[in-house]
Amino acid sequence: MSPLATSQLSLWDLEPPPEADSPAPNAAEHTSRAAAPTSDAELAALFLRVFRRLDIARPEPRFDAAYRPFTGLRSTIRLRHGRVEARVSDLLIGAPAAAVEALAEILLAQLYRQRPSAEARQCYRAYVTQPELRGKLEQTRRERGVKRLLPPRGRYFNLQLIFEDLNARFFSGELSPVRIGWSPHRSRTVLGHYDSAHRTITISRAFDSPSVPGYLLEYLVYHEMLHARHPVERNGSRRVIHSPAFVADEKRFPDYERAIRRLRRLSGRVD
Ligand SMILES: [Zn+2]
Repeated sequence: MSPLATSQLSLWDLEPPPEADSPAPNAAEHTSRAAAPTSDAELAALFLRVFRRLDIARPEPRFDAAYRPFTGLRSTIRLRHGRVEARVSDLLIGAPAAAVEALAEILLAQLYRQRPSAEARQCYRAYVTQPELRGKLEQTRRERGVKRLLPPRGRYFNLQLIFEDLNARFFSGELSPVRIGWSPHRSRTVLGHYDSAHRTITISRAFDSPSVPGYLLEYLVYHEMLHARHPVERNGSRRVIHSPAFVADEKRFPDYERAIRRLRRLSGRVD
């Protein structure tokens, strides 16, 4: 048997494409009333059951499945010495059995390079995009996640002072406090990021440089501050990150056009 790579799956892999605008299917339509297994042994039995149902033309492996306290909904599967090791986020304990069976099908399909059924994808997605689960997810990230952030005072710029100045100019000083700091690495792909679970603004340390004009850094911080002001909205199953209200506020920044033009040349991402 050819060695198969470890397969990882997270919620984001299954987010609907941006153009999909239909409301999330009701999870209850796809799920049986039975609850998912709570023990690792029962979870392994569930994977075996799904393996048999899928009719995979490979020798039946032994299954070693376990729940793990991952920070998010990440679940992994790999084949080692004829044994399938599945690790499932413990956030799925208490989920409907059908949602975990759907996840098992998706993971097994990835492992054996097959296409999971549309039903399985839809069922899992319907479960993981529910607002209650999203709330639980944020809470868990807050508790388990460690945010690595350098202090706001850099070599050339002090992000805290920029934040306070922008707060006074554009938010009447009323934006509730967030932690702001430099990224540990000089990332050129993610230039700025707001994390709603930790309420932190991270700016890439690549910008702590004398060649960076002040207005550009101010724009980056302002953009991330707007994320603190305008939470992500939902439109059906779609997450609207830059709402029309966000965009309108963003254009109040005097050097908006100039900053955007300059950022385009850097081709990094501003989350
Ligand atoms: Zn953004």
